[in-house]
Amino acid sequence: MDDKQQTNGAENPEKLTGLKKGRIKKNAAGIPAVVNSLQQVFSEAGVIRGSKALLKLNQKDGFDCPSCAWPDPDDERSGLGEYCENGAKAVAEEATAKKLEADFFAVHSVDSLAALSDFEIGRKGRIAQPMYLPKGATHYQPITWEAAFNKIATHLNALSSPDEAIFYTSGRTSNEAAFLYQLFVRAYGTNNLPDCSNMCHESSGTALNETLGIGKGSVTLDDFYKAEVVIVMGQNPGTNHPRMLSALQKAKANGCTIISVNPLPETGLMGFSHPQTMKGLLQINTALTDIFLQVKINGDLALLQAIEYFLLQEEKNQPGKVFDQHFIYEHTQDYISFIEHIDKLNLEQLSSASGISIEQIQEVAAVLKDKNKIIVCWAMGLTQHKNAVVTIQEIVNLLLLKGSIGKPGAGTCPVRGHSNVQGDRTMGIFERPSKAFLDSIERNFHFKPPQAHGYDTVEAINAMHQKKVSVFFAMGGNFLSATPDTLYTAAALRNCKLTVQVSTKLNRSHLVHGEEALILPCLGRSDKDRLNGEDQFVSCENSMGVVQASKGMLVPVSRQLMSEPAIVCYLAKATFSSSKVNWDKYLQHYDHIRNDIEKTIPGFDQYNERIRIPGGFYLPNANRQGKFSTASEKAHFTISTVEEIKLAADELLMMTIRSHDQFNTTIYGLDDRYRGIYNERRVVLMNQADMNERNINDGDIVDIYNHTGGIERVAHTFIVVAYPIPAKCAATYFPETNVLVPVSSVADKSNTPVSKGVIITLKKQS
Ligand code: SF4
Repeated sequence: MDDKQQTNGAENPEKLTGLKKGRIKKNAAGIPAVVNSLQQVFSEAGVIRGSKALLKLNQKDGFDCPSCAWPDPDDERSGLGEYCENGAKAVAEEATAKKLEADFFAVHSVDSLAALSDFEIGRKGRIAQPMYLPKGATHYQPITWEAAFNKIATHLNALSSPDEAIFYTSGRTSNEAAFLYQLFVRAYGTNNLPDCSNMCHESSGTALNETLGIGKGSVTLDDFYKAEVVIVMGQNPGTNHPRMLSALQKAKANGCTIISVNPLPETGLMGFSHPQTMKGLLQINTALTDIFLQVKINGDLALLQAIEYFLLQEEKNQPGKVFDQHFIYEHTQDYISFIEHIDKLNLEQLSSASGISIEQIQEVAAVLKDKNKIIVCWAMGLTQHKNAVVTIQEIVNLLLLKGSIGKPGAGTCPVRGHSNVQGDRTMGIFERPSKAFLDSIERNFHFKPPQAHGYDTVEAINAMHQKKVSVFFAMGGNFLSATPDTLYTAAALRNCKLTVQVSTKLNRSHLVHGEEALILPCLGRSDKDRLNGEDQFVSCENSMGVVQASKGMLVPVSRQLMSEPAIVCYLAKATFSSSKVNWDKYLQHYDHIRNDIEKTIPGFDQYNERIRIPGGFYLPNANRQGKFSTASEKAHFTISTVEEIKLAADELLMMTIRSHDQFNTTIYGLDDRYRGIYNERRVVLMNQADMNERNINDGDIVDIYNHTGGIERVAHTFIVVAYPIPAKCAATYFPETNVLVPVSSVADKSNTPVSKGVIITLKKQS
């Protein structure tokens, strides 16, 4: 039975919801963002509960936003509200008063729930008690926590090897929970710790580690206010990191030039009305982008090389005036071979491959020529391509030429999309842990952790599909909807004997499951977490490497919810008849967890003291001091070649994107108001000329095909929307079109699914 036959429940129903179209917005946020935020929060949580949560969101004595990982100001936090519209929506999701108890699951079968859209499923409410789906059953049924832990333990201890189990992590998991989770998994005996970072910034970590010696960005929020130029590449901050717009506005006010590089003219890049300013309230917007470069999908590498080519010609004319030769001499290696490579490049070819005119490229080079306080920001638009790692290394090349690393107002800025995805990696959630980390575990916990590397996300899907895995455990997230090749991944999950999801809300991964399935409902970031009569706090690390406390204060919707750290401890106690790790002490107070983190992971000295300082503390970052922890202690120039993706006449290159009413796989609503799309998610954004060539009109309904590896993948029933997107490029929302993303199509070196470069064809429905 091949994957195609197993569609039931794995995909959103192909039903249309009634597209309404409007203008593409010129400015982001403003009054509409305030109205939308309050509507979502008050309709889900009520005015009192909702207001309580918003007043504490991102405050120094409050809780950290469970959405993206954009940093909070080090100094004053806005008393009016230190959050954006999407932060408010994320809180509405968690703080909702709606809850799902046994009676709900008794009425609603798995199949009936799977026939709903992700939006409808997500709106059902918080899961209020542990639920179990026996083999062959159609409905989840209640189970006690103890029975649930024993069931998982029985399955785990029955495996012939710990490598027949996979332990996935989503980026919402706190430092404390992530540290205990990896400790449990390694004590159990495997490094099968795939995480959502494998699908998002893995390419950044790989690229930066190789060239600069650390897998994290080097800038702080303050650097934005000192920058001369900020380049935003492959990122849509207006929707995915909205408070970044405030930083760009402030940078602009300080004289900074903003250059945006994106296939789509994203509203948040163009204009911003800050709702906490009079101008913003009067809808007077601040134009952000000075130069907009509408690259072709995956045209970024060619663009960067073309800019470097022009800068090199300028440097030749004025030696040492354009390139920071002192920095290059002192801190880098391989400069000569790199320059020889750039000098031989063909500008016309680079211009054509990027989709940007030579005039525009020259204009950018002219801006950069005498600047060195340059920040480059990026996100999935760069990381989810086959050549992602070399493209990000080309950004590093540009910054090294200008000496723009390790000084105020300059550096690298991969903007993380999930609140603690960076923290989880720092805590050891990684399938390829370093020897130093494993030695530290052995030294501090007196057991020998597994040495062999484990599965990353794509390898985990393949292993489950090949029936090498029996138990799949997910700490948060929505694995099925977040991953590529939906039908293949669904079949993989269904091959497991047991699937376990630690979740706050219902999602599609609960409905596509192993022979048996468990849902373990956990506390959310905004929930009060009381232990031994004391409210506990956890900690998270944002994109700039700031670790800060997060303390929930809402009364949980159910007394049967458990915190993630407690879930790990009780699971360990059920699984291990004896253990070198004292799991009970962690159930006394989270300070014990932090003490062990301090002992095990560099940079967390006096963790419990420093985490109690309002606003938290910065982790060490050598790049920030202009130092490079590479073998040579020098930053590396790298040489790469642009390989344009060849498309047949009927083919387009598709990228999956988020709508404005979406955070990862969580669908807050059916609108994408910045792009003028309302009440519909099954849309495909197309270039008018491509439509004309295919005799397709705006509003036509098409099926979308991918044939990578000789396998036909199809996503049915999408409405064509004419949109200002470059020719031969198209865009659709995920997870609806993840079914088209081949699991075999991954980025070199990082193995990240190529969700931004999917070759498609279209067939008009008759
Ligand atoms: S910018 Fe990101 S972290 Fe900040 S409130 Fe918005 S969604 Fe949350």
